Amino acid sequence: MKSMEKIVSLCKRRGFLFQSSEIYGGVQGFWDYGPLGVELKRNLKEAWWHDMITGHNELAAPEGAPGTFDMVGLDCSIIMHPQVWKCSGHFDLFHDFMVDCRESKKRYRFDQVRGRWVEYQDKKIFVATMAEQEQELDEVRRRGMKFFKLRNKDADKLTVSDESLTIDKLESTEMVLAPDSKTLDTLTVPREYNLMFKTTLGALGGEDDTTFLRPETAQGIFVNFKNVLDSSRISVPFGIGQVGKSFRNEITPRNFTFRSREFEQMEIEFFCAPDQSHDWYRYWRDRRLAWYKSLGLSDESLIMREHHPSELAHYSVGTADIEYAFPFLPEGEYGELEGIAHRGDFDLRSHMEGKLDPKTSPMTVELNEHGKPKYRGSGKDLTYRDETTNEKFVPHVVEPSAGADRAVLAFICEAYTEDEAPDENGKMQTRTVLKLHPRLAPIKAAIFPLVKKDGMPELAQQIYGTLKKHFNVFYDEKGAVGRRYRRQDEAGTPFCITVDTDSLSDQTVTIRDRDTLEQWRVKIDDLTTELTKRINV
Ligand code: ATP
Repeated sequence: MKSMEKIVSLCKRRGFLFQSSEIYGGVQGFWDYGPLGVELKRNLKEAWWHDMITGHNELAAPEGAPGTFDMVGLDCSIIMHPQVWKCSGHFDLFHDFMVDCRESKKRYRFDQVRGRWVEYQDKKIFVATMAEQEQELDEVRRRGMKFFKLRNKDADKLTVSDESLTIDKLESTEMVLAPDSKTLDTLTVPREYNLMFKTTLGALGGEDDTTFLRPETAQGIFVNFKNVLDSSRISVPFGIGQVGKSFRNEITPRNFTFRSREFEQMEIEFFCAPDQSHDWYRYWRDRRLAWYKSLGLSDESLIMREHHPSELAHYSVGTADIEYAFPFLPEGEYGELEGIAHRGDFDLRSHMEGKLDPKTSPMTVELNEHGKPKYRGSGKDLTYRDETTNEKFVPHVVEPSAGADRAVLAFICEAYTEDEAPDENGKMQTRTVLKLHPRLAPIKAAIFPLVKKDGMPELAQQIYGTLKKHFNVFYDEKGAVGRRYRRQDEAGTPFCITVDTDSLSDQTVTIRDRDTLEQWRVKIDDLTTELTKRINV
């Protein structure tokens, strides 16, 4: 049986993941990848980079694509100009909401995308549905208010104090909360927290030197849009990809690495002509789902959740989340792996001085007393001129934004399997095996001499030396061969290569497949070709 406890225990035991600063009691929301974990995560990021960026053939349209396109990469700094976060909307709007229960002293946060309050330690209290009444929501949007509709789930009641919303026992059913609500006079607002980590530039830094660790990699791409365009001979449509750390001061880091405070993202900003943006949105949404499947996530565990039109920002024609049935979630629930959003021209416009139209961007633009945007952009022209038609426009953006850590966790959860396999005496035993896709597996093959004598270790070491030039392989001569297999099964190593007495005379070895347990003989000279073929499936 797959359980989160077993998966977490395997991750620690085999060196995939450790709690950060564990010897000092750990620090919540931060994780360290161990020797196997770091290889798995690197393989995942390299698979993404290859499949999305460097392996992309810009001369031929991939299946399902509206046309040909270019893909390039970037690696931007984590700390950026503070104005970036004002113009992106993060400074004003990247907030979480928190409430406390006076009785139990428990703390709850509102998970905005999933639409529910969650206890600090994970217990669900309320299911909230946003925007059931369109009119109400429009009003809330117009006034720039946050809006929750709470439905009682567990016979608990909401009461309100001067400082915060509190949760007690009882039978209250539904209510709408808004920070400046006129309908509920007693209501004060749930406390709001900006999720960005603050830091200060320079030793003598004052308020003006306050800046932030980036909460997403995307803004680095937007502000470099012109640089990329001017320095590489690419034309719209094209995509810019970036892999890197992001930081969010999450109120409820939980579920292992799923919600961390420091995590890595793999993001693409795809720039296209406005009239083609719907087609490109559909293309990226389908392509990204297919990517997870190609690396082993099963159809049954994945869903594509299209956001309801009322959940969308006004500039967006669509947002879809790719979600995975993580074992820590109740049956039938899914957690987000990646969001694919049609962002219109909102981001590029926001970074152009004075080009924001407050009428069309009421949610993200705070106005000053003259009715002008409070935060002004860079003043740089970020429009694009089509060389063939000479048409000038602000490109629309489709953004597939994935989390590397959540993807690693999903692949580990999917791969974790308990099955039956014969031990060294031929007796069937339960074995734990990580059935990772060979491209993702931290170690591609392990090489064993059957016994530690008669020249077998020497030949096995020679093979190890040759294969090491091409793959991450592992040499092990300790203990019974059955036990060595078991250790590699738990590490997710797809192939074990055994050198036996026959190998010395006929220069062949046995390869054992981790999943099927099938064994076959291969010439030592053919090993590199054989492994290459089987890893890059
Ligand atoms: P959530 O609703 O779960 O907080 P989000 O919608 O805020 O996620 P995005 O801003 O769309 O997430 O970020 C894109 C991706 O980055 C997510 O799909 C997820 O894979 C990853 N991500 C976001 N926040 C975290 C986090 N705290 N820990 C780990 N990964 C994260």
